[in-house]
Amino acid sequence: MHNIGRLAVWDPAGSQSELNHVERAALRWENGRITWCGREEDLPVAGVDETRIDAGESLVVPGLVDCHTHLAFGGWRADEFAMRIAGADYLEIARAGGGIASTMRATRSASEDELVERSLGFLAEMSRNGTTTVECKSGYGLSLEDELKVLRVYRRLQQLQDVRIVATFLGAHVVPPEFSGRRSDYIRLLTREMIPAIAEEGLAEYCDVFVEETAFTPGEAREIFEAALSFGLVPKLHADQLSDTGGAALAAEVGAASADHLEYASEDGIGAMAGAGVVAVCLPLASLYLGKTPMKAREFIRRGVRVAVATDFNPGSAPSHHLPLAMTLACTMSRMTPAEALKGATIVGAAAIRRERQTGSLLPGMAANFLLVDAPDVEHWLYHFRGNAVQGVFIGGKQVH
Ligand SMILES: [Zn+2]
Repeated sequence: MHNIGRLAVWDPAGSQSELNHVERAALRWENGRITWCGREEDLPVAGVDETRIDAGESLVVPGLVDCHTHLAFGGWRADEFAMRIAGADYLEIARAGGGIASTMRATRSASEDELVERSLGFLAEMSRNGTTTVECKSGYGLSLEDELKVLRVYRRLQQLQDVRIVATFLGAHVVPPEFSGRRSDYIRLLTREMIPAIAEEGLAEYCDVFVEETAFTPGEAREIFEAALSFGLVPKLHADQLSDTGGAALAAEVGAASADHLEYASEDGIGAMAGAGVVAVCLPLASLYLGKTPMKAREFIRRGVRVAVATDFNPGSAPSHHLPLAMTLACTMSRMTPAEALKGATIVGAAAIRRERQTGSLLPGMAANFLLVDAPDVEHWLYHFRGNAVQGVFIGGKQVH
């Protein structure tokens, strides 16, 4: 099959800001993989049975990768949205029984089937907006049984629909209320029971820890990552979101695939991430909803750190899974260029989940995950933000929208 239109392409060795538009371009794919990409006039002649799709005036870009979501959860927290607008802070909300603990209760009481059903709805909407790969975290179960339940939801989702799922264990989201005053017991549960059980069932590739004053210390995170690494789970971190707790440097130290949020990361932490090749993940929807300082993406890029863009979709701080909106906000709030934002939500997002050899660009050998966008170029797409400019979505060469 092949496709004629205007392509957004880049050299994998180039900087994050480098992007070229190829006019009158063609993309060919076979058995789910891209086999050729370039100018139409150079396209080698194919067999007679090739199907041709005319992308017309559309811009063809790689399928989007949302490398940070908390996809499966019970309930919503619209009441807290209203409380925050009225001036309540995080601690007041937590004292009123809200926050992560409230989603934990709703997630524990939801059945596996209910969570699957709901997540299928989210994934269908996300893919219509161009998302073709999603990283999904647990972390609202916070007991062995409920964390396994959420991770099994992700495994089932992969079998039920086309969007590619990458699962992350986030048992270290917060210490659940029943362990209050017994933090070390919860860490023992994480390291000695949950991580081994998850590894045994092959339910997650990554182990994320929320390193923050209200969650886990760098010392506790080190202990959790040590266990994770011994069971083959790769570290990821929620780091330096509300204060500088040394999360960025810790990400470099433990060889994390990514460190996410980073609004308060220190100069030294950024330098350590650059040295270790850790991807920084910018989550502008969370900054927008919380009215907090956005991540300084320019500084990371200037220091040689690749910056991914993701939604952080969750019922508290980022109740939207609209990745193109996050890309526009990464431009306006974190001063990424449109090209950097697109690469942040494709090839760099893929790098944050170590999939950059499988998806995130239009080069031959990559999965045929791509979008037809109703815009003349990337700048125009992200500038003229609207409900949905995506007109066609292909995953593994199959048109899903
Ligand atoms: Zn998150």
